[in-house]
Amino acid sequence: MTPTAKLATLLTALTIAATPAALTTPAHAHTPPPAPATTGHHIDPRPSTAELTHRLHQLHDHSNGRIRITEIGRTNQNRPIYHATVGTGPRRLLYITQQHGNEPLGTPAALEFLRHTGLGTTPWHHWLRSRITVDIIVRANPDGHENNSRYNHDPHADPEHGRKGKGYDPNRYHHPNLHPDHNPVPEAAAIQRTYAATTPDLVVDYHMQGRYTDHHGREITASVMWPTHPDVTTPATDLSRQATVAAAHAITTHHPANNVSTYPGGDYPGIARNAYGLHGSGSILIELSNIGPHAEQRQIRSALAAMTAIAQRTADTSLTRIDPARADRIPPRGAPIPTHERTPTPDHTDTLD
Ligand SMILES: [Zn+2]
Repeated sequence: MTPTAKLATLLTALTIAATPAALTTPAHAHTPPPAPATTGHHIDPRPSTAELTHRLHQLHDHSNGRIRITEIGRTNQNRPIYHATVGTGPRRLLYITQQHGNEPLGTPAALEFLRHTGLGTTPWHHWLRSRITVDIIVRANPDGHENNSRYNHDPHADPEHGRKGKGYDPNRYHHPNLHPDHNPVPEAAAIQRTYAATTPDLVVDYHMQGRYTDHHGREITASVMWPTHPDVTTPATDLSRQATVAAAHAITTHHPANNVSTYPGGDYPGIARNAYGLHGSGSILIELSNIGPHAEQRQIRSALAAMTAIAQRTADTSLTRIDPARADRIPPRGAPIPTHERTPTPDHTDTLD
């Protein structure tokens, strides 16, 4: 790009950013291209919460404050719950990882996203950070991570959703009528408060599921879903469906083995996917399949590809120009893949968000 073209792009970006009509302005033809995704270094799939704390503070220190870290709560075992923010733009995204402690791979993807987006200094990075603000709750359920449990840690729990004597299922306690001060689940309350404080346009919640095929017998590597509660408004549903199309496309094109389906989730309003849709935001679920250790690096990078694509397409407004009906072309999830390791247990609840 010539210096003149660069200046024109910058001025256009500044003009668009300063105009309230930006939210409906089509992307400029000279939007800078996305910077390349991360290189092939090994990513720790399961950093301890102490290591996560160290990494987040390191990111803050190395980014000249472009990555802001705040503690938004404490678990019942007194572990910190972190909220990281990158960008200063008007459009807001909220990414959540690891509400279920034994579904880890969204968390290392979030660390990579922060590193990539917050430390980069190319024109694309500056452009991206000027257009959007991304808030990330990095590992919403650290007790569950350390205890290798779906639930939070609460020996006094006798929950409607969760397991007596063990803990609550955090992803059932986002109901719009449940005030965070009365929420029995500190992890879910922290997410509710962050949602209220940031009022995101779109929420993306990262989980993991078991192994499934599609209807042709090919393995599903990720499943996506929008809010299915009937009271979610059409604009919120449309934005959610546009985001599922963008996520599915990013994951599918990231690796030849990737194969994305929809997720057969329910209507319960306490699930984050439904709750934040009922609040009026776009809201989606992304479930990475638990394919096994050999595929973890690919799964982390696939999650990162979805995070980056949603950020890019929010910044350049192409997300809202996707036909929401394209979500209906994402095929349904098929049958579980039986393996001798998949012994059913009371914790075996991977058919649920
Ligand atoms: Zn989950």
